[in-house]
Amino acid sequence: MVITSRWTADIPRCSLQQYIFGSVNGPLPDSQAFVDPERPDTNFITQTNYRLLSKRVALGLQKAGLKNGERVLIFSGNNLFFPSVFLGVLMAGGIFTGANPTMVPRELAYQLRDSDATFMFVAEAALKTALEAAKEVGLPRDRIFVFGGKTPDAPELIGSANPAPGVRGRAEGTRHWTELLAGNLSQAQNWSWQEPANPEETTCCLNYSSGTTGVPKGVEISHYSYVANSVGVIHVNRLDPEFEKKQPRQRMVCFLPLYHAYGQTYFVATMPHLRTPVYIMAGFDFVKLLEYIQKFRITTLACVPPIVVLFAKHPLTKNYDLSSVESIGSGAAPLGLEVSKEAQKFLPSVESVRQGWGMTEVTCTAMTWDPTSNIGSSQGVGEMNPNCKAKLMSADGKTEILKAGERGELWVSGPTLMRRYWKKPEATADTIVVDSDGARWLKTGDIAYVEKYEPGGIFHIVDRSKELIKVKGNQVAPAELEAVLLENPNVVDAAVIGVTIQGEELPRAYIVRKPDSKAAEQEIAKWMETKVARYKQLKGGVVFIDAIPKNPSGKILRKILRERAAKEVGDS
Ligand code: AMP
Repeated sequence: MVITSRWTADIPRCSLQQYIFGSVNGPLPDSQAFVDPERPDTNFITQTNYRLLSKRVALGLQKAGLKNGERVLIFSGNNLFFPSVFLGVLMAGGIFTGANPTMVPRELAYQLRDSDATFMFVAEAALKTALEAAKEVGLPRDRIFVFGGKTPDAPELIGSANPAPGVRGRAEGTRHWTELLAGNLSQAQNWSWQEPANPEETTCCLNYSSGTTGVPKGVEISHYSYVANSVGVIHVNRLDPEFEKKQPRQRMVCFLPLYHAYGQTYFVATMPHLRTPVYIMAGFDFVKLLEYIQKFRITTLACVPPIVVLFAKHPLTKNYDLSSVESIGSGAAPLGLEVSKEAQKFLPSVESVRQGWGMTEVTCTAMTWDPTSNIGSSQGVGEMNPNCKAKLMSADGKTEILKAGERGELWVSGPTLMRRYWKKPEATADTIVVDSDGARWLKTGDIAYVEKYEPGGIFHIVDRSKELIKVKGNQVAPAELEAVLLENPNVVDAAVIGVTIQGEELPRAYIVRKPDSKAAEQEIAKWMETKVARYKQLKGGVVFIDAIPKNPSGKILRKILRERAAKEVGDS
C-alpha cells in the first residue's frame, strides 16, 4: 500500500537559478547571503551580489570554452565563493559535480573520467592531488582554476572589473579562478542566462553516490527536481505558524560539505531562496562552531549524527550560550535517542532534535517532521515530503507490505527522483522501477517501517539492505574498496562490510590471503592508507578468512559477514 504525503506544493518549471533569485535582473535585497564568519564585517556576499558573481563566473566559463551540458568538477572544501561557482556553472548551461577534497589522485581521476569533466576548480591545498589526477585523465592545466589563495574580500572582488588574481602561476599552467571575472562586470549586470526549455529533462548536477550496489555513480538531478526538493522543504517549514515572524532572525551556519547533496541543497539553494544569511565555515572545527553560534545568534542547525554527538559530549559545549538555536535537524545516518536527548540539554530553546531521511538519488530530503508536531521521544524520520510517496516492499521486491510496524525495503517516488545514473543504464534499470501507472519508484536499499498506513504516516529507518557504509555521514562503497584490495599482491579475494564500533560505522575487510603470503592484518590496513581517502580507511579492522561466503552466482553474502563481524567486535 502506498503512503502519500499529506501535502502538495506547486513546483515552478524553471531553472534552479531562476527559482533562487526570482528573476534575471529584478531587484534583490542587499542583505547578506553568505558571510565569512572569520571576517564578517568585510567579507560577505549580498543577495544581489550572489546573482551578479554567479553571472560573472558563467560568462567567464563560457569565454573559456564551456559548452552546454559539459561538466565542471569542484574539488574543494567549503568557501564563501563555492555557491557562486555552483550557480555560475548552471547559468553557463553546464553541469556541476563536486568531489570530496580528501580524495587521493586515483579517486579523483575516477570521477573526472566518469563525469568527463572539462573544467576543474581546485582548492589550493588539494592542487597536488588534482594535478596528478588531471594528468592521468588528460585534463589540460589551463582548464584548472585554483580556488582560494589570496582572493580579495568578496565586496571588492565582485565590484571590480578586473579583480587582481591571487595565486596566478602557483602551479605552472593553471589559472586563478578570479581570472574568469576579468572585464565582465558591466556585461554581467545586464546579461541573462538561458532558461532550460525542459527543466525536468535538463540535468543541473551529478552528485556521486554508490546507491544500493557497486561503485560511486553520477546521480543526474534535473533543475526541476532540485527546485522540487527546495519547495518541499520550505512548504513544511512554513507550517510553523510563527514562520514569518521568525524569518527575519533566521541565521544558519554551513559546516556540511557543499559537494554533498545535504549541504548543497540547503545552502546553495533553499536558504538563499528564503534570504536567510549563511555563515560558511571553511573547515569543520567544533569549538569555532560553538563560538559562531553564540556570536551570530544562529537559529537553525542542519547536522549529521557525529556533530550531534559533539553537542552532547564535548566538554566545552556547556561554556557557550546556545540559546539562539531554535531548531536542529539531523540526517545522513541514524541518530541515537540518548545522544539526541543529551545534546538537547545544552540547547535550551530546542524542543527536540528532529531526524529527517534523504538520499542523493532523491535530490536530498524526502522525509521530515511537521514542525507543529510534538515528536516526544520518537526515533522516526518524519513523514513524506510534499508531492512524494512511499511504499515498503518484500526483499524480492514483489510483495507490498501492508501491516503497520512490519519491515520492508523502502521505495519512494516523486518529483525529486533522479533522472538516472550518468551513463549507467543498467544500474539505473536495477534501481528505478516503473509501475503500471507509469510512476517511477526508487529502490532505496533502506529497511523501514511505518507507524500507520495513512497519508502522513511516520517512518522509521531500522536497517540497510544495500552495500553502502556510512562513515560520519560520508558514503563508502564496499565495491570500490574491494577492487582496491584485489590490487594488493597478498590478496586473492576480499569483501568489505560496515561494522559498528562504539556507535560509529566503520569499514571492515575480510580477506583471503595468497597461500604463500605472510602479510599481517595491519600491513594490509597500512597499505590501504595510501590508496584511498582517510574516511575510507579500514578502521573497522582486517580479518583473514579461508573463503568469502558467496551465493552460486558469485555475489558476496554480506549479511553473513555482518553477523560475524557483530559477534567479533561484540557490538552491533
Ligand atoms: P546519501 O545519498 O549520501 O545522502 O546517503 C543516503 C543514505 O543515508 C540513506 O539511503 C540511508 O541509508 C542513510 N540515511 C540518511 N538519513 C538517515 C536517517 N535519518 N537514518 C538512517 N539512515 C539514514
